[in-house]
Amino acid sequence: MSQNVPYKTYLTEDELPTHYYNVRADMKVGHAPILHPGTLQPVTVADMEPIFCTELAKQELNTEDRFIEIPEQVRAFYRMYRPSPLVRAYHLEKALGTPAKLYYKYEGGNTSGSHKLNSAIAQAYYAKEQGLTGLTTETGAGQWGSALSMACVYFDLELEVYMVRVSSEQKPYRKVLMETYGAQVIASPSDTTSIGRTMLENPENQGGSLGTAISEAVEVAVTSEGKRYVLGSVLNQVLLHQSIIGIEAKKALEKLDEYPDMVIGCAGGGSNLGGLMSAFMEDKLAGRTAPHFIAVEPASCPSMTRGRFAYDFCDTGQVTPLAKMYTLGHAFMPSPSHAGGLRFHGMSPILSQLFHDGFIDEARAVDQVSVFQAAEIFARAEGTLPAPESSHAIRAAIDEALKCKETGEQKTILFGLSGNGYFDLAAYQQYNEGTLTDRVPTDEDLERGLATIPSLPGIQ
Ligand SMILES: *Cc1c(COP(=O)(O)O)cnc(C)c1O
Repeated sequence: MSQNVPYKTYLTEDELPTHYYNVRADMKVGHAPILHPGTLQPVTVADMEPIFCTELAKQELNTEDRFIEIPEQVRAFYRMYRPSPLVRAYHLEKALGTPAKLYYKYEGGNTSGSHKLNSAIAQAYYAKEQGLTGLTTETGAGQWGSALSMACVYFDLELEVYMVRVSSEQKPYRKVLMETYGAQVIASPSDTTSIGRTMLENPENQGGSLGTAISEAVEVAVTSEGKRYVLGSVLNQVLLHQSIIGIEAKKALEKLDEYPDMVIGCAGGGSNLGGLMSAFMEDKLAGRTAPHFIAVEPASCPSMTRGRFAYDFCDTGQVTPLAKMYTLGHAFMPSPSHAGGLRFHGMSPILSQLFHDGFIDEARAVDQVSVFQAAEIFARAEGTLPAPESSHAIRAAIDEALKCKETGEQKTILFGLSGNGYFDLAAYQQYNEGTLTDRVPTDEDLERGLATIPSLPGIQ
């Protein structure tokens, strides 16, 4: 195999980014304001302070500052696992017989196993700076809870994690990992909150959803002294912190004299894709380049491909603010048969707006079995066992590479390998045994969820 670029490109520690990139400063059309659920007025920092850390609330509303300095203590933590490698997928290219150049940015090289640690450590830092004693959160598949456990113990903060019940049953070792890092893990819906007790009255809700777990964690935060709620995806602040992925990726590609024709990421709440895109979107918004961005979502939870661009609550319990985003309705319950953590009913308002305005070129829904086929091809070729979520991006990258094989085009394709799949062996087992299925919602199923999108007279 001839290699004119190395298999892995690492930046040096000195090249670790010093600033996050805030794409909102450059967006042509900002996303519609986040609305207070009671007054339906745009939320202010003061509105958010009972729920969020003050500095994070400010970041959430910041449309001005293009670059925001990464605190030195956060950079010190990043140095334990960043800069993360940019890998040229030579073995995968060979396995596919494609002329395309495939690169991936690997975010699974830390104990929590995903990119989520990038935001967890920043959020824990701001909480500590504010003098808080603890945080509450939800976790779907467990990656965010694991990441936040690592971050909280580092800054000596207490942590309560509401874990979606189906995931806690599918992934018992995630709980062990979180507890090892000192967190308290509660299966959601639980009887520890009033929204949890309400949800438990209906047997259909037993498996839980991210929306319900969010409601529970928020309820605990606002009713406890010295605690705030933090979230691992969807929010602007999370995309801000995750911009480190794209900034590093662009710098590493520059070293190779490369620039992507295509950037592909899986999209649950949008944070790893938003992060990976960041520095390239900066170029695109400035009119310098025009990479083709693809968001890949599961066919079982298709917010961008089959949802509606509308104001909706971010949680089932309707306690969080309303965001204008692609949504399936806050009461939408994805099928429990889905193995990945891409189960949120909505999508980052930033990504939603960029997609609506055509800056994200394409959203694609892929079914679970084809995702695991792609995961298997990748694992066997490249060595790393990918997270099922990341494998959605791999599916699209492989499909694009195979198109290049047909056309002979030598496209440069960058995709996000947002995490590893070491805690997803139960899903791999099902796939290996041929029992993994997918339940794609019918139009009627979706209609039930979409019907729960609130109608807000006078508000578009
Ligand atoms: C949480 C998670 C995702 C989905 O969340 P985004 O906010 O859309 O990135 C994707 N990949 C991995 C590995 C995750 O842990």
